[in-house]
Amino acid sequence: MRKTIVAGNWKMNKTPKEALELIETLKPLVAGNDKTEVVFCPPFVDLLLAVEATKGTNIKIGAQNMYCAESGAYTGEVSPAMVKECGCEYVILGHSERRAYFGETNELVNAKVKKAFEHGLTPIICVGEKLEEREQGITIDLVRMQVKIALKDVDPENVKKAVIAYEPIWAIGTGKTATSVQAEEVCCAIRQVVAEVFGQEVADEIRVQYGGSVNAGNAAELFAMPNIDGGLVGGASLKADFAKIVNYD
Ligand code: PEP
Repeated sequence: MRKTIVAGNWKMNKTPKEALELIETLKPLVAGNDKTEVVFCPPFVDLLLAVEATKGTNIKIGAQNMYCAESGAYTGEVSPAMVKECGCEYVILGHSERRAYFGETNELVNAKVKKAFEHGLTPIICVGEKLEEREQGITIDLVRMQVKIALKDVDPENVKKAVIAYEPIWAIGTGKTATSVQAEEVCCAIRQVVAEVFGQEVADEIRVQYGGSVNAGNAAELFAMPNIDGGLVGGASLKADFAKIVNYD
């Protein structure tokens, strides 16, 4: 039985002081929910205090990115060990904004996924199509390829623990949500490709989220779909309303 996971991607929002305020607002609102795993992914500079502020609660902390080397001359980057030592359990990898603005390729995402597992971090791997790709009818082919490359040479036992976030790029931050049927179709295809490569047992365990303008009004319908195990939430994770998404039913 897969546990629903709702993660908030704060993107480049919230200074340390603001992060603390948001955590203190949300903590009591999500407390006591043991049906859904709750993850906050603040910017790097907030990670230590976020871990400290959520100790003893049901909230887990994730980073929004990391580099795939152990250490060295990579100015501006953060290593897997740094993320781990901050107390993070999760790391978002391959977000479409990283792919679009920072040139991240499927191969780089794969290298990061493998490094995350080496360091005991669980990756939330983002995949998804642009509007023109959907219109060309290549969504499923493209997403299957993104998933296959992201998980290439990953141990099946680790694949079971991974989270894949299906995030159609046209739905991110636009207020346009995929319908539950559209989202389910792609999340089902993701589980199918995992089954083809790693076997049905692995596919039955991996969690697949939907992301793209999830809000308090649409979360319940999306998360009720058989292959959608929760959501990756951007804009709505910065408000008290995030608790309504976590407590969706
Ligand atoms: C995201 O950035 O991962 C995301 C899904 O954003 P939003 O919820 O704002 O569309």
